[in-house]
Amino acid sequence: MNENRGLLIGRMQPVHKGHLSVIQETLKEVDELIIGIGSAEKSHTDSNPFTGGERILMLSKALREYNIDPSRYYIIPLEDIACNSLWVGHVKMLTPPFSKVYTGNSLVKQLFHENNMPYIQPPLFNRHEYSGTEVRHRMLEDDDWQSLVPESVVEVLEEIQAVERIQKLHKRELSEI
Ligand code: ATP
Ligand code: MG
Repeated sequence: MNENRGLLIGRMQPVHKGHLSVIQETLKEVDELIIGIGSAEKSHTDSNPFTGGERILMLSKALREYNIDPSRYYIIPLEDIACNSLWVGHVKMLTPPFSKVYTGNSLVKQLFHENNMPYIQPPLFNRHEYSGTEVRHRMLEDDDWQSLVPESVVEVLEEIQAVERIQKLHKRELSEI
C-alpha cells in the first residue's frame, strides 16, 4: 500500500516554534513528512544568515526535543534553481515520493498546482511572533528572540554565535556602496 507522505518546505532562517507547530499538526494527517530546507545553499545574508547545515542541525535537535519519532520524517536540503518552471521536477528529484504539499507560499502553491499536485495551506500559529523575520529582527536589536525558538535551537544559535553574525552582516550591508 502507498504511504501517505507529505512535503513541507521552509527556509528556516532560523527554525522557530511556528515551524515545530506546523510539523506536529501535519504529522497528525500524514504517515511520513518530508521536511525540505529551502534555499539550502544560501547563507551569510540579512535574510538568509544560516547555512543549510546549520539549519539541519537546528531542525534535527528541535524535532528530538519535541519527541517526534525520527522514523516519521526526512530532512532534505533543497538548493534553489534558476528556472521556476523546472523547480517541481528538481524538488521531486531530491525527495522521497510524496502525494501532497503543505505550504503557505503562493508561488510554491502555483508551481505544484500546475504539476497536478494537491497542496494544503496549513494554519499559521501566532504568526505575529513566530516568524523568521521577527526572530532575525530581535537578534539584530538584542531583544528577546529566545522565547520564539525551541530551547535546543537557542543552544545551536549560541554555539554558532548567531547574534554576532547577524549584527556583523547588517553593519556590512549598511556600509556597502
Ligand atoms: P521568513 O520570515 O524568514 O520568511 P518564515 O517564518 O516565513 O520565515 P519560512 O522558513 O519562510 O518561515 O517557512 C515558511 C513555511 O513555514 C510556511 O509555508 C509555513 O508552512 C511554515 N510556517 C512559518 N511560520 C509559521 C507559523 N507561525 N505557523 C505555522 N507555520 C509556519
Ligand atoms: Mg517565509
